Amino acid sequence: GLSYHENWQRMWRNPTPKKSYDVIIIGGGGHGLGTAYYLAKEFGIRNVAVIEKGWLGGGNTARNTTIVRSNYLWDEAAALFEHSVKLWEGLTQELNYNVMFSQRGVLNLGHTLQDMRDIQRRVNANRLNGIDGEVLDARGVQDLEPLLDCSARARFPIMGASWQPRGGVARHDAVAWGFARGADAHGVDILQQTEVTGLMIRDGQIYGVHTNRGDIEAKTVGCVVAGNSGVLANMAGIKLPLESHPLQALVSEPLKPVVNTVVMSNHVHGYISQSDKGDLVIGAGIDGYTGYGQRGSYPIIEHTLQAIVEMFPAFSRVRMNRQWGGIVDTTPDASPIISKTNVEGLYFNCGWGTGGFKATPGSAHVFAASLAKREMHPLAAPFSIDRFHTGALVDEHGAAAVAH
Ligand code: FAD
Repeated sequence: GLSYHENWQRMWRNPTPKKSYDVIIIGGGGHGLGTAYYLAKEFGIRNVAVIEKGWLGGGNTARNTTIVRSNYLWDEAAALFEHSVKLWEGLTQELNYNVMFSQRGVLNLGHTLQDMRDIQRRVNANRLNGIDGEVLDARGVQDLEPLLDCSARARFPIMGASWQPRGGVARHDAVAWGFARGADAHGVDILQQTEVTGLMIRDGQIYGVHTNRGDIEAKTVGCVVAGNSGVLANMAGIKLPLESHPLQALVSEPLKPVVNTVVMSNHVHGYISQSDKGDLVIGAGIDGYTGYGQRGSYPIIEHTLQAIVEMFPAFSRVRMNRQWGGIVDTTPDASPIISKTNVEGLYFNCGWGTGGFKATPGSAHVFAASLAKREMHPLAAPFSIDRFHTGALVDEHGAAAVAH
């Protein structure tokens, strides 16, 4: 079927690194590529390089389970994630690239009275912030998901759920590739197989990066390297409040459509959706140990599948096709870090942990604005590193408890 499919047009160039750029973005995941895209498209800064040690989107962007939602508790987080969902809603048109954003809705299940009180509080907060949300009882949940065990027989019977109809899933690769093609078309140099091995800093100002392809100069450098953020920060003598943990996901053999929405349960601790191809896409929590191996351990897989079978007993005989891991950068308050540093011109956008895919366009947009103006965008400002000194934390453990 692929005979004669030759000489396809390249989606982006493969340029030789220039000696210097106005801005360097380290990390060719969705957030980094998106930052470069908005820098060029919206802020007219085109002399930009994205430096990626492997291939585009090969980090967490390629490894995540693609849940998109904005039903976070606190005003600061809700505003940032809602900014992102709004951008998602126009992203396919914006990039002229089908990112397959499917707003099939997200259910966060409640299994105890306290779960339901927390859900009510969060949905109230969401609605006050103009974010769609409803509280459903068990019957409302059952109507949306007929295969879900909503009976009183379950070990932790489902009492209800929060429901965000505008939430959903998207195609992870397409987001990276769409931003990459768009950035390249605006003149951004995308440098793959190029690893940053050191940061060039003099008199408290960044002036470039060392790479395996030589030194490249820039007075503005944005680090968007997810699980490797601690490593990059070390190069500048900065200690970030981050831990890097493996986070796993699994997909099953393809099935006919059986899961209509995204179903998440903090209590039995697992979540599931179904890809357009038919695979069940499954995840849960991080592995407890820190490390950089993109694999994870067996007890987590077992625990995750126990939770899924408890929610959907009919899946007990479904076969799993693949399992993998990514390295997520978790912070003490489960919120990201989008920040200047004490090195002039050096910025970090990290700490998205288990939940940054949904933020890709929003994070990229506010980060690009911050780099362009050298002043943090108002939506990014509450996520400065300083909050770990001042105590102004944005604690989203409740909304982010099960990894997603
Ligand atoms: P990445 O995509 O990881 O990109 C960083 C890039 O930096 C990598 O490509 C890496 O190679 C590169 N890099 C690192 N060091 C260097 C260096 N020295 N030089 C050059 N390049 C370097 N989020 C959600 O919102 N919803 C979900 O359902 C969800 N599920 C997840 C499931 C799993 C299993 C995992 C692992 C994560 C999940 N996440 C989810 C989190 C989400 O994937 C991340 O927060 C997000 O994709 C981070 O994007 P990024 O562009 O910042 O990082």
